[in-house]
Amino acid sequence: MKKTTQLYEGKAKKVFLTESGDLVIQEFKDDATAFNNKKKGSIADKGIVNNAISCKLFTLLEEHGIRTHLVEKLSEREMLCRFLDIIKVEVVVRNIAAGSLVKRYGFAEGTVLQQPIVEFYLKDDDLDDPLMNESHAVALGVATLDELAVLKSRAEAINAVLKTFFAEKKLKLVDFKLEFGRHHNEILLGDEISPDTCRFWDLDTNEKMDKDRFRFDLGGVEDAYSEVQRRVLEID
Ligand code: UDP
Repeated sequence: MKKTTQLYEGKAKKVFLTESGDLVIQEFKDDATAFNNKKKGSIADKGIVNNAISCKLFTLLEEHGIRTHLVEKLSEREMLCRFLDIIKVEVVVRNIAAGSLVKRYGFAEGTVLQQPIVEFYLKDDDLDDPLMNESHAVALGVATLDELAVLKSRAEAINAVLKTFFAEKKLKLVDFKLEFGRHHNEILLGDEISPDTCRFWDLDTNEKMDKDRFRFDLGGVEDAYSEVQRRVLEID
């Protein structure tokens, strides 16, 4: 499948149209940003690692009956995907308190939540992706109430599959962000699932093994990403 025009260039990926109007190619870059673009850098081979991890996790979710945009992994950095009408809602699922949950609500970092928290954020960089509830999303016209209910239940189902999978890999799935899109009357999971979009803590040591190492200059960023890849793909 050949790339045609570039549709979009984001912080971590480029998206290209293909000769088939229904398919796009996501190309994963090494560029890294944090704090809404205020911190910029690069993580060596991140694009390769995130593509490999995302393809594996989307395949796992498909095996559990959760539909995603993945068609196939094309190359080290390229994923062939169904062309989605992206819903401008970022869905965050949390199992353990960290990041903005700690800042906003005063939880102690590491508090295990009684049940997962699902949050909606408006996908809008200019506004710093504000937290929103269903009424905001409907008023803004970004999704219908029915669609938001699908996003929430889909996010919970994805969390159940991923939490079990990562526990087997000796990783705690602390929290993660999902994006969905419309495709022929269906809602599919899109974007990526990777150490850029999830928090992973080592099950035994609680060591952070995700983008927080980049965000907070903890060092060992590349090693953490490749260790997650090794565990997810079970590479010796
Ligand atoms: N996240 C993301 N993209 C965003 C915001 C958050 O992938 O634009 C992920 C983030 O990596 C973490 C989870 O969503 O795994 C929850 O992030 P949080 O709200 O704590 O915000 P942050 O601390 O990243 O600002």
